[in-house]
Order: sequence, then C-alpha cells, then structure tokens
Amino acid sequence: MNRLRDKIAIVTGGAVGIGRATAQRMAEEGATVVIADIQDDEGRVLAESINNEGGQATYWHCNVGDERAVVGTVQGVVDEFGRLDVLVNNAGISGANRPSHELTEDEWDEVQIVNVKGVFFCTKAAIPHMRASGGGSIINLSSIYGLVGAPDIPAYHASKGAVHLMTKTDALTYASDRIRVNSVHPGFIWTPLVEKFLEDQGDVAEGRRSLDSLHPLGHVGEPDDVAWGIVYLASDEAGFVTGTELVIDGGYTAR
Ligand code: NAD
Repeated sequence: MNRLRDKIAIVTGGAVGIGRATAQRMAEEGATVVIADIQDDEGRVLAESINNEGGQATYWHCNVGDERAVVGTVQGVVDEFGRLDVLVNNAGISGANRPSHELTEDEWDEVQIVNVKGVFFCTKAAIPHMRASGGGSIINLSSIYGLVGAPDIPAYHASKGAVHLMTKTDALTYASDRIRVNSVHPGFIWTPLVEKFLEDQGDVAEGRRSLDSLHPLGHVGEPDDVAWGIVYLASDEAGFVTGTELVIDGGYTAR
C-alpha cells in the first residue's frame, strides 16, 4: 500500500489488458490514475470500479496517435490535478500478421502511428510538465519482440525495437531533469491483444498451449505480472533506475 501515494499518473491504453491491471495496481498503491484510451465504455467502467474500491481514477478519451488529442489530455490532467508524475506509454496494437513482402504501407503505418508516434507524442507532451514539477517517471511498453526476433508481425517488431531505443535516448536526455525513462518487455501475456492474435490464426486453445510452451516457466503471463513491474518503476523505490529494460517474460529471452 501507498508505494505511489500522492502521484498523478496517466496510463495510456488503460481500459483493458496490461493497462487495466496497471491502473488497478497503481490506484491500490495510492496513485491518482488517469485511464487514457479509445474504448470509452470499458475505460469508464474501470474508473468507476476503482473509485468504488476506494482508489482514485478518471477516464479520458484519448487517441495516442493524434498529437492534438494527446496535448489536450496531458494539459487537462495537469490543469485538474496540478502536475504529472508518471506516464505509462502502454497503448499498443499488434497489426497485420503477414510477412514483410505482403504488408501494405497502410498496415505498416497503422502500427507505427500507435506504437511509436503514440509514445513520442505522449512523452513530448509530458516532459515540460515533469520538468516544471522537478521530475517524473516514464514507462514505455516495449516487448520481447523489441529484443529478439520471431517470424511474425514485422511492423510490430519494428515498433517495439524503436520504443526500446527511444527509451534509452530519452533517459539520457532527461536524466538531469530527474525524469527517469525505462522500458518494460513482457513475454506473451493473456490479454485481448493476444486472444485476438490467436483468433486470427484459428484455434485459440491450441494457440495458447503453443504459446505456453515458448516460456520456460511453462505458461503465458497474466496482466498483473507486468503491472507490478510498472508499479516498481513508477515508485521512488526505482529512484536510481533509468534507461534500462525490465524483462518480464517467464524466461522467453533467457535461451
Ligand atoms: P490490449 O489490446 O489488450 O490493450 C491495449 C489497449 O490499448 C486497449 O485498451 C486499446 O483500446 C488501447 N489502444 C489501442 N490503440 C489506442 C490508441 N490509438 N489510443 C489509445 N489507446 C489505444 O493490449 P495488451 O496486451 O494489454 O498490451 C498492452 C501493451 O503491452 C501494448 O503496448 C503491447 O504491445 C504490449 N505488450 C503486450 C504483450 C502481450 O502479450 N499481451 C506482450 C508484450 C508487449
């Protein structure tokens, strides 16, 4: 309890999946959480349930691929709560699952707009406010697919590789402002994103078994496995941690 007391946090893509678990765990630890997403019903219901359980959360509609919307959301949060301490750049999509030579330019761009430009826009909007208040923590969701290859979703791999190194550059650039920037690299985590990825391939139950077997611990992860890592990076416990990768993958990349 209270590891994030008095902190104001934005979680993009916070309505479902890893973002949802992150919003819940951060609120339990005392943060005021702004859930920024495009799934309005899910986001509103989640904010309400967090508030009913004694936490503090609000839902804001925000498409991270739209810079004006991002600037408006971040400014609105600062106007309402006075500052911004934590930004979790979590919103992401997997995109079309075809080899590079079959992908269209639009399919490629769709993924980069959310996964890469979204992180850029949100970071750009947050930095002046974090500077003004003397520091902050930015947590970028990359992936095991930002560390190692696999023969699928090429646009997604490119986007997560980009987020991996954007994190290091921003960590170095803003270290003197006491703004920490780290990336998180989950293995397969059971969320709507992964369920849809398997649905598109056919048999979900069989697909899940095959994903389980890719992780030395024997199963895919749960959203909370990642949320607790994000809570750590957001907290003052991680005060000396910047520019690093937190890999939460059941051993996937240890081979
Ligand atoms: P998810 O699809 O379950 O949830 C993603 C959320 O992002 C949704 O609420 C969605 O509405 C929101 N979103 C999508 N586009 C948006 C936009 N333009 N603006 C605002 N919100 C938007 O995904 P997830 O599995 O919870 O993944 C969360 C993050 O973790 C993503 O960045 C993903 O790439 C990354 N990740 C997931 C896994 C996994 O196995 N689930 C593994 C590695 C990394």
